[in-house]
Amino acid sequence: MNRYPALMVLVLALMGVGFCAALSRSLYVEETHTISTEFKSDIDQLASAFEREVLLNLEILYALKAAVGVIPDMEVERFRALTQQVLKRSPAIQAFAWAPVITKEELAAFEQRQRQLRPDFSLTERSDDGKVVPVLARPWYVPVQFIEPIEDNRAALGFDLASEQRRLAALLWARDGGEMVATAGVRLIQKPGNDRGFLVFAPLYRNAPSTLEERRANHYGFLNGVFRVSELANQSVGYSTGQDILFQVVDRTGGGEDVLYASGDAAAEHWMTFRAYQSALSDVAGRAWFVEAMPSQQYFEKRRGWLPSLVMVAGLLFIGLLVTYAVISLKRNNELTTAKLELEKMSLTDGLTELANRRHFDLYLDHEWRRARRQKSPISLIMLDIDYFKPFNDQYGHPAGDRCLEQVAQALRSVVRRPTDLVARYGGEEFAIILPETDNAPVVAEACRAAVEALGVPHSFSEVSAVVTVSAGVCTLVPDTTLSPDELTQRADRALYQAKDAGRNRLVVAEGEHADITDP
Ligand code: GH3
Ligand code: MG
Ligand code: MG
Repeated sequence: MNRYPALMVLVLALMGVGFCAALSRSLYVEETHTISTEFKSDIDQLASAFEREVLLNLEILYALKAAVGVIPDMEVERFRALTQQVLKRSPAIQAFAWAPVITKEELAAFEQRQRQLRPDFSLTERSDDGKVVPVLARPWYVPVQFIEPIEDNRAALGFDLASEQRRLAALLWARDGGEMVATAGVRLIQKPGNDRGFLVFAPLYRNAPSTLEERRANHYGFLNGVFRVSELANQSVGYSTGQDILFQVVDRTGGGEDVLYASGDAAAEHWMTFRAYQSALSDVAGRAWFVEAMPSQQYFEKRRGWLPSLVMVAGLLFIGLLVTYAVISLKRNNELTTAKLELEKMSLTDGLTELANRRHFDLYLDHEWRRARRQKSPISLIMLDIDYFKPFNDQYGHPAGDRCLEQVAQALRSVVRRPTDLVARYGGEEFAIILPETDNAPVVAEACRAAVEALGVPHSFSEVSAVVTVSAGVCTLVPDTTLSPDELTQRADRALYQAKDAGRNRLVVAEGEHADITDP
Protein backbone atom coordinates (compact mmCIF):
# COMPACT_ATOMS: atom_id res chain seq x y z
CA MET A 1 0.00 0.00 0.00
CA ASN A 2 1.13 3.50 -0.72
CA ARG A 3 2.78 5.07 2.32
CA TYR A 4 1.40 8.57 2.06
CA PRO A 5 -2.35 7.78 2.00
CA ALA A 6 -1.87 5.18 4.74
CA LEU A 7 -0.21 7.80 6.92
CA MET A 8 -2.99 10.20 6.10
CA VAL A 9 -5.63 7.67 7.21
CA LEU A 10 -3.69 7.09 10.43
CA VAL A 11 -3.44 10.83 11.15
CA LEU A 12 -7.13 11.36 10.41
CA ALA A 13 -8.09 8.37 12.55
CA LEU A 14 -5.98 9.71 15.43
CA MET A 15 -7.58 13.13 15.01
CA GLY A 16 -11.00 11.48 15.04
CA VAL A 17 -10.19 9.56 18.21
CA GLY A 18 -8.88 12.77 19.75
CA PHE A 19 -12.01 14.61 18.77
CA CYS A 20 -14.26 11.86 20.20
CA ALA A 21 -12.28 11.82 23.41
CA ALA A 22 -12.50 15.60 23.70
CA LEU A 23 -16.23 15.60 23.00
CA SER A 24 -16.87 12.76 25.42
CA ARG A 25 -14.76 14.50 28.05
CA SER A 26 -16.55 17.79 27.63
CA LEU A 27 -19.93 16.04 27.93
CA TYR A 28 -18.65 14.34 31.06
CA VAL A 29 -17.50 17.67 32.50
CA GLU A 30 -20.82 19.27 31.59
CA GLU A 31 -22.66 16.38 33.25
CA THR A 32 -20.49 16.69 36.35
CA HIS A 33 -21.32 20.36 36.48
CA THR A 34 -25.04 19.65 36.19
CA ILE A 35 -24.93 17.02 38.93
CA SER A 36 -22.89 19.34 41.11
CA THR A 37 -25.48 22.09 40.65
CA GLU A 38 -28.23 19.58 41.42
CA PHE A 39 -26.36 18.57 44.56
CA LYS A 40 -26.09 22.18 45.74
CA SER A 41 -29.75 22.79 45.20
CA ASP A 42 -30.53 19.51 47.05
CA ILE A 43 -28.47 20.76 49.97
CA ASP A 44 -30.04 24.21 49.89
CA GLN A 45 -33.42 22.51 50.17
CA LEU A 46 -32.29 20.22 52.99
CA ALA A 47 -30.72 23.18 54.78
CA SER A 48 -33.90 25.19 54.61
CA ALA A 49 -35.96 22.21 55.79
CA PHE A 50 -33.58 21.83 58.71
CA GLU A 51 -33.68 25.54 59.41
CA ARG A 52 -37.47 25.51 59.46
CA GLU A 53 -37.42 22.64 61.94
CA VAL A 54 -34.97 24.46 64.23
CA LEU A 55 -36.92 27.72 64.16
CA LEU A 56 -40.17 25.86 64.76
CA ASN A 57 -38.74 24.22 67.88
CA LEU A 58 -37.37 27.53 69.12
CA GLU A 59 -40.80 28.99 68.52
CA ILE A 60 -42.27 26.38 70.85
CA LEU A 61 -39.92 27.53 73.59
CA TYR A 62 -40.87 31.12 72.83
CA ALA A 63 -44.56 30.35 73.13
CA LEU A 64 -43.99 28.48 76.40
CA LYS A 65 -42.03 31.41 77.77
CA ALA A 66 -44.95 33.70 76.92
CA ALA A 67 -47.23 31.35 78.90
CA VAL A 68 -45.03 30.96 81.97
CA GLY A 69 -44.09 34.64 81.91
CA VAL A 70 -47.42 35.44 83.49
CA ILE A 71 -46.94 32.95 86.36
CA PRO A 72 -43.72 33.79 88.21
CA ASP A 73 -44.50 31.38 91.05
CA MET A 74 -44.00 28.10 89.29
CA GLU A 75 -44.92 24.79 90.86
CA VAL A 76 -43.97 21.30 89.82
CA GLU A 77 -47.48 20.25 88.83
CA ARG A 78 -48.13 23.42 86.89
CA PHE A 79 -44.87 23.08 85.04
CA ARG A 80 -45.66 19.52 84.15
CA ALA A 81 -49.10 20.44 82.94
CA LEU A 82 -47.71 23.22 80.79
CA THR A 83 -44.99 21.18 79.13
CA GLN A 84 -46.25 17.61 78.97
CA GLN A 85 -48.31 17.86 75.77
CA VAL A 86 -45.69 19.89 73.95
CA LEU A 87 -42.92 17.46 74.82
CA LYS A 88 -44.95 14.52 73.58
CA ARG A 89 -45.28 16.13 70.21
CA SER A 90 -41.75 17.48 69.92
CA PRO A 91 -39.22 14.66 69.81
CA ALA A 92 -36.34 17.09 69.22
CA ILE A 93 -36.96 18.72 72.60
CA GLN A 94 -35.16 16.67 75.20
CA ALA A 95 -36.47 18.70 78.13
CA PHE A 96 -37.89 21.92 79.40
CA ALA A 97 -36.46 23.22 82.63
CA TRP A 98 -37.37 25.94 85.01
CA ALA A 99 -34.31 27.57 86.60
CA PRO A 100 -34.71 30.52 88.97
CA VAL A 101 -31.85 32.79 90.04
CA ILE A 102 -30.98 32.01 93.69
CA THR A 103 -28.59 34.25 95.64
CA LYS A 104 -26.07 32.85 98.06
CA GLU A 105 -28.25 34.10 100.93
CA GLU A 106 -31.35 32.34 99.59
CA LEU A 107 -29.56 29.05 98.94
CA ALA A 108 -30.20 27.25 102.23
CA ALA A 109 -33.89 28.18 102.34
CA PHE A 110 -34.30 27.20 98.70
CA GLU A 111 -32.75 23.78 99.21
CA GLN A 112 -34.90 23.33 102.32
CA ARG A 113 -38.06 24.06 100.40
CA GLN A 114 -37.16 21.69 97.61
CA ARG A 115 -36.37 18.85 99.98
CA GLN A 116 -39.99 18.84 101.12
CA LEU A 117 -40.71 17.60 97.63
CA ARG A 118 -37.54 15.67 96.95
CA PRO A 119 -35.63 14.74 100.05
CA ASP A 120 -32.34 14.29 98.16
CA PHE A 121 -32.46 17.70 96.48
CA SER A 122 -29.29 19.78 96.59
CA LEU A 123 -27.49 22.19 94.28
CA THR A 124 -24.77 20.49 92.30
CA GLU A 125 -22.13 21.18 89.72
CA ARG A 126 -19.55 19.14 87.91
CA SER A 127 -16.04 18.97 89.21
CA ASP A 128 -13.09 19.17 86.81
CA ASP A 129 -12.96 15.39 86.64
CA GLY A 130 -16.64 15.22 85.65
CA LYS A 131 -18.10 14.13 89.01
CA VAL A 132 -21.31 15.60 90.32
CA VAL A 133 -20.45 17.55 93.47
CA PRO A 134 -22.18 20.12 95.72
CA VAL A 135 -21.87 23.69 94.43
CA LEU A 136 -19.00 25.87 95.53
CA ALA A 137 -19.74 29.23 97.14
CA ARG A 138 -20.84 31.81 94.52
CA PRO A 139 -22.87 35.05 94.74
CA TRP A 140 -25.75 33.46 92.82
CA TYR A 141 -26.86 30.24 91.24
CA VAL A 142 -29.25 29.16 88.50
CA PRO A 143 -30.30 25.67 89.63
CA VAL A 144 -32.69 23.49 87.69
CA GLN A 145 -35.73 23.50 89.91
CA PHE A 146 -38.24 21.72 87.68
CA ILE A 147 -37.51 19.65 84.67
CA GLU A 148 -39.81 17.73 82.38
CA PRO A 149 -40.00 14.92 81.50
CA ILE A 150 -38.66 14.18 84.95
CA GLU A 151 -38.18 10.45 84.26
CA ASP A 152 -35.36 10.95 81.77
CA ASN A 153 -33.86 14.06 83.31
CA ARG A 154 -33.77 13.48 87.01
CA ALA A 155 -29.97 13.76 86.96
CA ALA A 156 -30.21 17.39 85.90
CA LEU A 157 -32.38 18.38 88.88
CA GLY A 158 -30.48 20.78 91.14
CA PHE A 159 -27.68 21.26 88.60
CA ASP A 160 -26.44 24.84 88.70
CA LEU A 161 -26.50 26.10 85.12
CA ALA A 162 -24.26 29.01 86.10
CA SER A 163 -21.52 26.64 87.23
CA GLU A 164 -20.44 25.79 83.73
CA GLN A 165 -18.71 28.31 81.45
CA ARG A 166 -20.60 27.69 78.23
CA ARG A 167 -23.95 27.82 79.92
CA LEU A 168 -23.04 30.80 82.05
CA ALA A 169 -22.03 32.89 79.04
CA ALA A 170 -25.36 32.17 77.39
CA LEU A 171 -27.29 32.88 80.60
CA LEU A 172 -25.75 36.32 81.01
CA TRP A 173 -26.21 37.14 77.36
CA ALA A 174 -29.88 36.17 77.55
CA ARG A 175 -30.49 38.05 80.79
CA ASP A 176 -28.91 41.27 79.52
CA GLY A 177 -30.30 41.16 76.01
CA GLY A 178 -33.78 39.96 76.86
CA GLU A 179 -33.66 37.51 73.95
CA MET A 180 -33.47 33.75 73.83
CA VAL A 181 -29.84 32.63 73.63
CA ALA A 182 -28.54 29.25 72.61
CA THR A 183 -25.45 27.67 74.10
CA ALA A 184 -22.69 26.16 72.06
CA GLY A 185 -23.12 22.46 71.46
CA VAL A 186 -23.09 20.40 74.66
CA ARG A 187 -22.99 16.74 75.30
CA LEU A 188 -26.35 15.91 76.78
CA ILE A 189 -26.02 14.70 80.34
CA GLN A 190 -29.16 12.67 79.96
CA LYS A 191 -28.13 10.87 76.80
CA PRO A 192 -25.46 8.26 76.45
CA GLY A 193 -23.06 8.34 73.54
CA ASN A 194 -22.22 11.26 71.38
CA ASP A 195 -25.60 12.83 71.01
CA ARG A 196 -25.09 16.57 70.82
CA GLY A 197 -27.56 19.10 72.00
CA PHE A 198 -27.84 22.72 72.81
CA LEU A 199 -29.68 24.64 75.44
CA VAL A 200 -31.70 27.73 74.83
CA PHE A 201 -32.31 30.12 77.66
CA ALA A 202 -35.33 32.34 77.62
CA PRO A 203 -34.93 35.02 80.29
CA LEU A 204 -37.89 35.69 82.61
CA TYR A 205 -38.56 39.13 84.08
CA ARG A 206 -41.05 40.70 86.38
CA ASN A 207 -42.93 43.58 84.76
CA ALA A 208 -41.72 44.43 81.25
CA PRO A 209 -38.20 45.89 81.46
CA SER A 210 -36.90 47.93 78.53
CA THR A 211 -33.38 48.95 79.55
CA LEU A 212 -30.38 46.87 80.53
CA GLU A 213 -30.61 48.10 84.14
CA GLU A 214 -34.29 47.27 84.35
CA ARG A 215 -33.65 43.86 82.88
CA ARG A 216 -30.94 43.09 85.43
CA ALA A 217 -33.10 44.37 88.29
CA ASN A 218 -36.28 42.51 87.28
CA HIS A 219 -34.75 39.25 86.15
CA TYR A 220 -35.74 36.24 88.22
CA GLY A 221 -34.97 33.13 86.22
CA PHE A 222 -34.92 31.21 82.97
CA LEU A 223 -37.07 28.94 81.01
CA ASN A 224 -34.72 26.50 79.49
CA GLY A 225 -35.16 24.25 76.49
CA VAL A 226 -32.82 21.37 75.78
CA PHE A 227 -32.74 20.43 72.10
CA ARG A 228 -31.27 17.40 70.36
CA VAL A 229 -29.59 18.27 67.08
CA SER A 230 -29.79 14.73 65.75
CA GLU A 231 -33.53 14.66 66.28
CA LEU A 232 -33.94 18.06 64.62
CA ALA A 233 -32.08 16.64 61.62
CA ASN A 234 -34.06 13.39 61.65
CA GLN A 235 -37.34 15.26 61.78
CA SER A 236 -36.47 17.49 58.85
CA VAL A 237 -33.99 15.75 56.52
CA GLY A 238 -33.45 12.33 58.08
CA TYR A 239 -34.90 10.30 55.26
CA SER A 240 -33.61 12.44 52.41
CA THR A 241 -29.86 12.25 53.01
CA GLY A 242 -29.58 8.48 52.82
CA GLN A 243 -26.22 6.90 52.08
CA ASP A 244 -25.31 9.34 49.37
CA ILE A 245 -25.10 12.61 51.23
CA LEU A 246 -23.13 13.44 54.34
CA PHE A 247 -25.19 16.06 56.08
CA GLN A 248 -23.49 17.95 58.86
CA VAL A 249 -24.56 20.78 61.12
CA VAL A 250 -21.64 22.92 62.15
CA ASP A 251 -21.62 25.70 64.74
CA ARG A 252 -19.12 28.36 63.66
CA THR A 253 -20.03 31.06 66.14
CA GLY A 254 -17.04 33.32 66.85
CA GLY A 255 -14.82 31.50 64.38
CA GLY A 256 -15.18 28.12 66.10
CA GLU A 257 -15.81 24.83 64.32
CA ASP A 258 -18.08 22.49 66.24
CA VAL A 259 -19.81 19.67 64.42
CA LEU A 260 -23.16 19.26 66.15
CA TYR A 261 -24.48 16.56 63.91
CA ALA A 262 -23.27 14.32 61.09
CA SER A 263 -25.56 11.98 59.21
CA GLY A 264 -22.71 9.53 58.63
CA ASP A 265 -19.05 8.89 59.28
CA ALA A 266 -17.30 12.01 58.00
CA ALA A 267 -13.96 10.19 57.96
CA ALA A 268 -15.19 7.54 55.53
CA GLU A 269 -13.40 7.50 52.19
CA HIS A 270 -16.29 7.59 49.81
CA TRP A 271 -17.19 11.22 50.51
CA MET A 272 -16.07 13.62 47.81
CA THR A 273 -14.58 16.19 50.16
CA PHE A 274 -13.61 18.50 47.30
CA ARG A 275 -17.29 18.85 46.46
CA ALA A 276 -18.24 19.92 50.00
CA TYR A 277 -20.92 22.56 49.92
CA GLN A 278 -22.15 24.71 52.75
CA SER A 279 -25.21 26.73 53.34
CA ALA A 280 -25.54 29.25 56.19
CA LEU A 281 -28.61 29.09 58.37
CA SER A 282 -30.28 32.19 59.64
CA ASP A 283 -29.48 33.15 63.24
CA VAL A 284 -30.22 30.29 65.68
CA ALA A 285 -30.81 32.10 68.98
CA GLY A 286 -27.60 34.08 68.53
CA ARG A 287 -25.48 31.33 66.99
CA ALA A 288 -24.03 30.98 63.52
CA TRP A 289 -24.93 27.56 62.20
CA PHE A 290 -24.04 26.09 58.86
CA VAL A 291 -25.17 23.05 57.02
CA GLU A 292 -22.18 21.47 55.38
CA ALA A 293 -22.65 18.58 53.01
CA MET A 294 -20.62 16.26 50.82
CA PRO A 295 -21.86 13.88 48.17
CA SER A 296 -20.63 10.31 48.00
CA GLN A 297 -19.11 8.94 44.83
CA GLN A 298 -22.33 6.96 44.31
CA TYR A 299 -24.33 10.18 44.40
CA PHE A 300 -22.52 11.19 41.21
CA GLU A 301 -22.36 7.72 39.66
CA LYS A 302 -26.12 7.20 40.07
CA ARG A 303 -26.88 10.43 38.27
CA ARG A 304 -24.52 9.96 35.37
CA GLY A 305 -25.99 9.15 31.97
CA TRP A 306 -24.69 7.06 29.11
CA LEU A 307 -24.04 9.89 26.74
CA PRO A 308 -20.29 10.50 27.30
CA SER A 309 -19.48 6.79 27.03
CA LEU A 310 -21.89 6.39 24.14
CA VAL A 311 -20.20 9.19 22.23
CA MET A 312 -16.81 7.61 22.83
CA VAL A 313 -17.85 4.07 21.92
CA ALA A 314 -19.95 5.11 18.93
CA GLY A 315 -17.21 7.49 17.81
CA LEU A 316 -14.54 4.79 17.99
CA LEU A 317 -16.80 2.36 16.19
CA PHE A 318 -17.49 4.93 13.51
CA ILE A 319 -13.80 5.72 13.11
CA GLY A 320 -13.03 2.02 12.99
CA LEU A 321 -15.54 1.60 10.18
CA LEU A 322 -14.16 4.60 8.33
CA VAL A 323 -10.59 3.33 8.66
CA THR A 324 -11.65 -0.08 7.41
CA TYR A 325 -13.43 1.58 4.52
CA ALA A 326 -10.39 3.78 3.80
CA VAL A 327 -8.02 0.81 3.90
CA ILE A 328 -10.26 -1.15 1.55
CA SER A 329 -10.49 1.88 -0.75
CA LEU A 330 -6.75 2.33 -0.71
CA LYS A 331 -6.21 -1.28 -1.59
CA ARG A 332 -8.75 -1.01 -4.33
CA ASN A 333 -7.10 2.16 -5.53
CA ASN A 334 -3.77 0.41 -5.72
CA GLU A 335 -5.31 -2.42 -7.68
CA LEU A 336 -6.81 0.15 -10.02
CA THR A 337 -3.44 1.87 -10.44
CA THR A 338 -1.84 -1.45 -11.30
CA ALA A 339 -4.65 -2.21 -13.71
CA LYS A 340 -4.25 1.23 -15.25
CA LEU A 341 -0.55 0.63 -15.82
CA GLU A 342 -1.43 -2.70 -17.35
CA LEU A 343 -3.97 -1.03 -19.60
CA GLU A 344 -1.48 1.62 -20.62
CA LYS A 345 0.85 -1.13 -21.63
CA MET A 346 -1.94 -2.62 -23.67
CA SER A 347 -2.91 0.67 -25.22
CA LEU A 348 -2.11 1.54 -28.78
CA THR A 349 -0.50 4.94 -28.47
CA ASP A 350 3.07 5.81 -27.60
CA GLY A 351 3.09 8.14 -24.58
CA LEU A 352 5.94 10.37 -25.72
CA THR A 353 5.33 10.96 -29.40
CA GLU A 354 1.63 10.17 -29.50
CA LEU A 355 2.31 8.06 -32.58
CA ALA A 356 1.00 4.52 -32.80
CA ASN A 357 3.04 2.27 -30.55
CA ARG A 358 4.70 -0.99 -31.35
CA ARG A 359 1.66 -3.03 -30.44
CA HIS A 360 -0.55 -0.92 -32.65
CA PHE A 361 2.02 -1.31 -35.41
CA ASP A 362 1.98 -5.11 -35.15
CA LEU A 363 -1.82 -5.31 -35.17
CA TYR A 364 -2.16 -2.87 -38.03
CA LEU A 365 0.54 -4.51 -40.13
CA ASP A 366 -1.10 -7.90 -39.64
CA HIS A 367 -4.48 -6.49 -40.57
CA GLU A 368 -3.28 -4.58 -43.62
CA TRP A 369 -1.09 -7.50 -44.70
CA ARG A 370 -4.06 -9.79 -44.89
CA ARG A 371 -6.13 -7.25 -46.72
CA ALA A 372 -3.30 -6.67 -49.22
CA ARG A 373 -3.02 -10.41 -49.71
CA ARG A 374 -6.75 -10.66 -50.36
CA GLN A 375 -6.71 -7.75 -52.75
CA LYS A 376 -3.31 -8.69 -54.17
CA SER A 377 -2.30 -5.09 -53.68
CA PRO A 378 1.12 -3.82 -52.66
CA ILE A 379 1.96 -2.87 -49.11
CA SER A 380 5.01 -0.79 -48.18
CA LEU A 381 6.96 -0.36 -45.02
CA ILE A 382 9.46 2.39 -44.22
CA MET A 383 11.79 1.87 -41.25
CA LEU A 384 13.56 5.01 -40.00
CA ASP A 385 16.30 5.42 -37.39
CA ILE A 386 17.78 8.68 -36.12
CA ASP A 387 21.45 8.98 -36.90
CA TYR A 388 23.93 9.30 -34.08
CA PHE A 389 21.19 9.62 -31.56
CA LYS A 390 23.22 8.15 -28.73
CA PRO A 391 25.79 10.97 -28.90
CA PHE A 392 22.86 13.42 -29.15
CA ASN A 393 21.41 12.06 -25.93
CA ASP A 394 24.75 11.88 -24.23
CA GLN A 395 25.66 15.46 -25.09
CA TYR A 396 22.36 17.32 -24.95
CA GLY A 397 20.75 15.22 -22.26
CA HIS A 398 17.83 12.82 -22.21
CA PRO A 399 15.09 15.51 -22.04
CA ALA A 400 16.49 17.15 -25.15
CA GLY A 401 16.52 13.67 -26.72
CA ASP A 402 12.84 13.29 -25.87
CA ARG A 403 12.04 16.67 -27.40
CA CYS A 404 13.92 15.65 -30.54
CA LEU A 405 11.91 12.42 -30.76
CA GLU A 406 8.70 14.47 -30.53
CA GLN A 407 9.85 16.80 -33.30
CA VAL A 408 10.87 13.94 -35.57
CA ALA A 409 7.49 12.29 -34.95
CA GLN A 410 5.73 15.53 -35.85
CA ALA A 411 7.76 15.81 -39.04
CA LEU A 412 6.87 12.26 -40.08
CA ARG A 413 3.22 12.87 -39.33
CA SER A 414 3.23 15.96 -41.50
CA VAL A 415 4.57 14.01 -44.47
CA VAL A 416 2.34 10.95 -44.22
CA ARG A 417 -1.20 12.22 -44.65
CA ARG A 418 -3.28 9.40 -46.09
CA PRO A 419 -5.79 8.11 -43.55
CA THR A 420 -4.83 4.49 -44.18
CA ASP A 421 -1.12 5.16 -43.59
CA LEU A 422 0.21 4.49 -40.12
CA VAL A 423 3.24 6.16 -38.55
CA ALA A 424 4.46 4.24 -35.51
CA ARG A 425 7.24 4.48 -33.01
CA TYR A 426 8.85 1.12 -33.51
CA GLY A 427 11.13 1.38 -30.50
CA GLY A 428 13.71 3.81 -28.98
CA GLU A 429 14.62 6.18 -31.83
CA GLU A 430 13.24 3.96 -34.58
CA PHE A 431 10.04 4.71 -36.50
CA ALA A 432 8.04 2.63 -38.92
CA ILE A 433 5.50 3.71 -41.50
CA ILE A 434 2.97 1.32 -42.98
CA LEU A 435 1.66 2.44 -46.36
CA PRO A 436 -1.08 0.13 -47.69
CA GLU A 437 -1.72 0.06 -51.40
CA THR A 438 1.41 2.05 -52.07
CA ASP A 439 4.18 1.45 -54.52
CA ASN A 440 5.79 4.87 -54.38
CA ALA A 441 7.06 4.38 -50.83
CA PRO A 442 10.61 5.58 -51.65
CA VAL A 443 9.13 9.00 -52.46
CA VAL A 444 7.41 9.14 -49.10
CA ALA A 445 10.57 7.89 -47.39
CA GLU A 446 12.62 10.56 -49.04
CA ALA A 447 10.06 13.19 -48.08
CA CYS A 448 10.33 11.95 -44.47
CA ARG A 449 14.11 12.11 -44.50
CA ALA A 450 14.01 15.59 -45.97
CA ALA A 451 11.37 16.75 -43.48
CA VAL A 452 13.53 15.63 -40.54
CA GLU A 453 16.56 17.31 -41.96
CA ALA A 454 14.48 20.42 -42.58
CA LEU A 455 13.60 20.54 -38.87
CA GLY A 456 17.12 21.83 -38.46
CA VAL A 457 17.56 20.42 -34.93
CA PRO A 458 21.25 21.18 -34.25
CA HIS A 459 23.40 18.10 -33.75
CA SER A 460 27.07 19.00 -33.36
CA PHE A 461 27.94 15.42 -32.60
CA SER A 462 26.62 13.84 -35.74
CA GLU A 463 29.28 12.70 -38.17
CA VAL A 464 26.98 13.10 -41.16
CA SER A 465 25.34 16.49 -40.65
CA ALA A 466 25.16 19.55 -38.42
CA VAL A 467 21.48 18.77 -37.81
CA VAL A 468 19.52 15.73 -36.76
CA THR A 469 18.99 13.34 -39.67
CA VAL A 470 17.46 9.95 -40.20
CA SER A 471 18.32 6.90 -42.29
CA ALA A 472 15.51 4.90 -43.86
CA GLY A 473 14.96 1.43 -45.24
CA VAL A 474 12.04 0.90 -47.59
CA CYS A 475 10.40 -2.28 -48.77
CA THR A 476 7.29 -2.86 -50.86
CA LEU A 477 5.73 -6.31 -51.28
CA VAL A 478 2.62 -7.80 -52.73
CA PRO A 479 1.81 -10.44 -50.13
CA ASP A 480 1.31 -14.00 -51.20
CA THR A 481 0.98 -17.23 -49.26
CA THR A 482 4.74 -17.75 -49.14
CA LEU A 483 5.39 -14.41 -47.45
CA SER A 484 4.67 -13.14 -43.95
CA PRO A 485 4.53 -9.66 -42.43
CA ASP A 486 7.81 -10.48 -40.72
CA GLU A 487 9.37 -10.78 -44.08
CA LEU A 488 8.38 -7.22 -44.83
CA THR A 489 9.83 -5.89 -41.56
CA GLN A 490 13.01 -7.84 -41.90
CA ARG A 491 13.61 -6.59 -45.40
CA ALA A 492 12.89 -3.00 -44.50
CA ASP A 493 15.14 -3.33 -41.47
CA ARG A 494 17.91 -4.83 -43.52
CA ALA A 495 17.57 -1.94 -45.98
CA LEU A 496 17.79 0.49 -43.06
CA TYR A 497 21.05 -1.02 -41.89
CA GLN A 498 22.37 -0.84 -45.38
CA ALA A 499 21.53 2.86 -45.36
CA LYS A 500 23.43 3.20 -42.10
CA ASP A 501 26.37 1.35 -43.50
CA ALA A 502 26.31 3.50 -46.59
CA GLY A 503 26.88 6.62 -44.50
CA ARG A 504 23.48 7.52 -42.96
CA ASN A 505 21.05 10.37 -43.76
CA ARG A 506 19.81 8.40 -46.73
CA LEU A 507 17.38 5.70 -47.72
CA VAL A 508 17.81 2.24 -49.15
CA VAL A 509 15.01 0.52 -51.03
CA ALA A 510 14.91 -3.23 -50.68
CA GLU A 511 13.99 -4.95 -53.85
CA GLY A 512 13.90 -8.68 -53.90
CA GLU A 513 17.35 -9.79 -52.88
CA HIS A 514 18.87 -6.49 -54.04
CA ALA A 515 18.80 -3.06 -52.59
CA ASP A 516 18.98 0.31 -54.29
CA ILE A 517 20.99 2.89 -52.51
CA THR A 518 19.60 6.34 -53.01
CA ASP A 519 21.72 9.32 -52.04
CA PRO A 520 19.88 12.46 -51.05
P1 GH3 B 1 23.13 5.16 -35.30
O1 GH3 B 1 23.42 6.36 -36.11
O2 GH3 B 1 23.96 3.97 -35.73
O3 GH3 B 1 21.69 4.86 -35.20
O4 GH3 B 1 23.66 5.52 -33.89
P2 GH3 B 1 22.80 5.82 -32.66
O5 GH3 B 1 23.63 6.45 -31.63
O6 GH3 B 1 21.55 6.52 -33.00
O7 GH3 B 1 22.33 4.35 -32.27
P3 GH3 B 1 22.21 3.58 -30.94
O8 GH3 B 1 21.17 2.45 -31.15
O9 GH3 B 1 23.51 3.18 -30.37
O10 GH3 B 1 21.61 4.58 -29.95
C1 GH3 B 1 20.21 4.77 -29.81
C2 GH3 B 1 20.05 5.71 -28.67
O11 GH3 B 1 18.73 6.27 -28.65
C3 GH3 B 1 20.21 5.06 -27.36
C4 GH3 B 1 19.41 5.91 -26.43
O12 GH3 B 1 20.29 6.83 -25.79
C5 GH3 B 1 18.50 6.70 -27.38
N1 GH3 B 1 17.12 6.49 -27.08
C6 GH3 B 1 16.34 5.38 -27.30
N2 GH3 B 1 15.06 5.60 -26.89
C7 GH3 B 1 15.02 6.87 -26.39
C8 GH3 B 1 14.00 7.69 -25.80
O13 GH3 B 1 12.83 7.28 -25.65
N3 GH3 B 1 14.33 8.94 -25.41
C9 GH3 B 1 15.62 9.45 -25.53
N4 GH3 B 1 15.91 10.67 -25.16
N5 GH3 B 1 16.58 8.68 -26.08
C10 GH3 B 1 16.31 7.44 -26.49
MG1 MG C 1 18.63 2.55 -33.24
MG1 MG D 1 20.16 5.65 -34.35
